[in-house]
Amino acid sequence: MSSLEIKHLHVAIGEKEIVKDFSLTLQSGEVHAIMGPNGTGKSTLSKAIAGHPSYRITQGDVLLDGHSILAMEPDERARAGIFLAFQYPSEIPGVSIANFLRAAQQARLGEGEELDATAYYKRLYSKMDLLKIDRKFTSRSVNEGFSGGEKKRCEILQMAMLEPKFALMDETDSGLDIDALRIVAEGVNHMRGPNLGVLLITHYQRLLDYIVPDYVHVMWDGRIVKSGDKSLALELEAKGYDWVKKELATA
Ligand code: ADP
Ligand code: MG
Ligand code: MG
Repeated sequence: MSSLEIKHLHVAIGEKEIVKDFSLTLQSGEVHAIMGPNGTGKSTLSKAIAGHPSYRITQGDVLLDGHSILAMEPDERARAGIFLAFQYPSEIPGVSIANFLRAAQQARLGEGEELDATAYYKRLYSKMDLLKIDRKFTSRSVNEGFSGGEKKRCEILQMAMLEPKFALMDETDSGLDIDALRIVAEGVNHMRGPNLGVLLITHYQRLLDYIVPDYVHVMWDGRIVKSGDKSLALELEAKGYDWVKKELATA
């Protein structure tokens, strides 16, 4: 069992404070969805946790299994078990998915440790079978000429190979077609289990029809203003974010 505790986190970009006193604890096995209107700091939150250098944590802490990760470099955080699925993965021409994933795997090993190629491919193929990904897929270059759905498939496969303790999934506000949505959902649902915690950031209620979260949180102006179960997502869809805003105004 692992925990990821976000405690009274404040994050600034330049001089501007974007995340303001954000607190949330995730346990492995749980799926938490964060919803909120555009510009409330959802992506800023996930990038700060992953250790992106442009996002400055000014107050608060993030603890993985009780230990602060804030002094760790992004790659150390990844090795410790935090996975960030990027909103806009970049193309890596000439590098096949198989080699890219292999390098990522190798990077997680200690100094002087050599990845066992046979074991690696065995694991890769078993994950691909689980996710129903065609073997031919891994010989293609990373994201080069990929459709939205294929990019997602690559991301999901990467996540399956890395077996993170916590996955921060920041879904783009636009351009996720129904195919890509299904790929993400099937992948996450396959990986769901007692050893994985998921923070699913989304603008759209629709994704939560496929990945049913244990908890739903509404983020507004840099912090969580409302929490509930999956019914909160449905309520949001029916009433819109203005409903939350009105509630906040009268509170
Ligand atoms: P969300 O993901 O909820 O849509 P973001 O975290 O992307 O919100 O953005 C929150 C706020 O931070 C917005 O006002 C946005 O304009 C600002 N912001 C995001 N990234 C940057 C950046 N690199 N430089 C300056 N401002 C930024
Ligand atoms: Mg946005
Ligand atoms: Mg965003």
